[in-house]
Amino acid sequence: MSFEVIALGVGDTFSRVHHTTSLLLHKDGFYLGVDCPDSYRNVLRDAGDKCGRALDLFSVDDILLTHVHGDHMNGIEGVGFFKHFAEKKRLKLHTTEDVRSVIWDQRLRAPMERLWNGSAYRELSFDDYFDYRQLDWSAEATIGPFSIRIRRTIHHVPTCAILVRCDGRSLGYSSDTAFDPSLIDFLSAADLVIHETNYGPAHTAYKDLAALPEAARAKMRLIHYPDQLTDSVIPLVKEGEILVP
Ligand SMILES: [Zn+2]
Repeated sequence: MSFEVIALGVGDTFSRVHHTTSLLLHKDGFYLGVDCPDSYRNVLRDAGDKCGRALDLFSVDDILLTHVHGDHMNGIEGVGFFKHFAEKKRLKLHTTEDVRSVIWDQRLRAPMERLWNGSAYRELSFDDYFDYRQLDWSAEATIGPFSIRIRRTIHHVPTCAILVRCDGRSLGYSSDTAFDPSLIDFLSAADLVIHETNYGPAHTAYKDLAALPEAARAKMRLIHYPDQLTDSVIPLVKEGEILVP
């Protein structure tokens, strides 16, 4: 079967109609989640209902986090607990050293470091929940059938865009970024480019993408779009859509 990109969520953090942006990469039964929004099992089920697939967390053992903003990672606490309690295993967490340096102490430690077993408290660490696999800024990583390079974007916090190769096809995903023509060049090596758009200086304005040359726009789809953007010269990714690069 082909390398597939399943759109789990397409919205921004303020959306009242969409789940926040995340992707699920699939090849021959191997799933890699790219970012992890709130209520992740609901998000998987909703997308699965739309595309006719049975998607559940039991099949997702690897998640890549592009950055620590909540709309991209709020679900990771629940996923970590689910793997720990329901599956008795650790989530393979693929991310940069920049994210690793803050994700436990500044995001997850307060709710996750202490568990009550009915008679005593127990202290847990990041490594009790997560099998950390570092993504290097200068080296290609292998995750299952996927080869992944990352590139730093222009955003409030350290964020990586990804270029994924699998089976001779490729995906470029911007994650969150200000408009950055050099990043678009990097991503344009791919057969399919999924690019964010939103308001504000740390995101990419729709008008800047709409003004790109036809060759760049032809392979591009938009994600992380505000609810108000419904009509676009670059097609919008839809929730539950399965894209084949
Ligand atoms: Zn962000």
